[in-house]
Amino acid sequence: MAAELIDGKKVAADIRENLKKEIAGLKAKGINPGLAVVLVGENPASKKYVASKEKACEEIGIASFAYKIPDTTTQEELLSLIDRLNNDANVNGILVQLPLPKGLNEKEVMNRIKPEKDVDGFGPDALGKLVLDEPGFIPCTPHGAMKMLEAYGINPSGRHAVVVGRSVIVGKPLALLLLRKNATVTICHSKTPNLKEECLKADILCVAIGRAKMITGDMVKEGAAVIDIGINVTPEGKIVGDVDFDAAKQRAAYITPVPGGAGPMTIAMLVYNTVQAAKMQAGIKIGL
Ligand code: NDP
Repeated sequence: MAAELIDGKKVAADIRENLKKEIAGLKAKGINPGLAVVLVGENPASKKYVASKEKACEEIGIASFAYKIPDTTTQEELLSLIDRLNNDANVNGILVQLPLPKGLNEKEVMNRIKPEKDVDGFGPDALGKLVLDEPGFIPCTPHGAMKMLEAYGINPSGRHAVVVGRSVIVGKPLALLLLRKNATVTICHSKTPNLKEECLKADILCVAIGRAKMITGDMVKEGAAVIDIGINVTPEGKIVGDVDFDAAKQRAAYITPVPGGAGPMTIAMLVYNTVQAAKMQAGIKIGL
């Protein structure tokens, strides 16, 4: 039986719609959420992501402040821009689009963002709070994956979740979030000896590798929920995930499409974090 599609586009639209109403209420109290988006250089994919983020902000009433700066920008210049944004009261959240051009130190730049404005949730404060199960900004892509599971009533508690990929921005935080929801979690990576065997144990299979269709249909357990986070461009220019969607959907009970799954959810959770940042900076207590 073919799997039910997890419609990330629809879940994201619902989240944005609720935020739009919340922002209208905040504005009535004089709180105007604002996001600074920093794009260094001309990477076409980064330009596209930044445009989508700016559009999402505009549509729901978040002010977006764009800083599009050349790839000749020095580390010192970039750090001084971050300092300026850290001290700008109109800016509640700061997003630096990654990857940065070669020669710039990403870690130093990300660590320079004030924890209360780190709406991407990539800094040590946010990641430390995630490990400690304390309220903090949750990285947007893994948060979006969790929200999709929730929207479709897929409860990780007591289930076996397998996360393929251990990056700081996707795999590791996603594993922690699944653990927080009482899943038994296995994390796989490039040195995992038998990936197929591990994947076949997954009631919830989350994949963030960055290799087109690497997870084939025979690696998916019957009845599993499959969350495909990968974004890959084929030689023909088609966007595909890390999972062979057509084959996997024959075995899975639920599956996210690419595009239309994790991508729109990432942007929805970014605007969510920006609204939380604005509330927090206005002294409103929040449970992130
Ligand atoms: P990284 O390159 O940082 O991490 C990839 C992970 O995959 C690594 O942990 C790596 O293992 C693992 N891996 C690589 N090859 C294999 C293999 N053969 N078998 C098992 N594991 C393997 O990527 P990201 O986490 O940043 O991104 C992953 C994908 O998600 C990309 O396609 C990216 O474009 C997409 N993405 C999508 C987003 C969205 O909004 N939808 C947002 C962010 C990312 P090891 O650690 O051993 O090297």
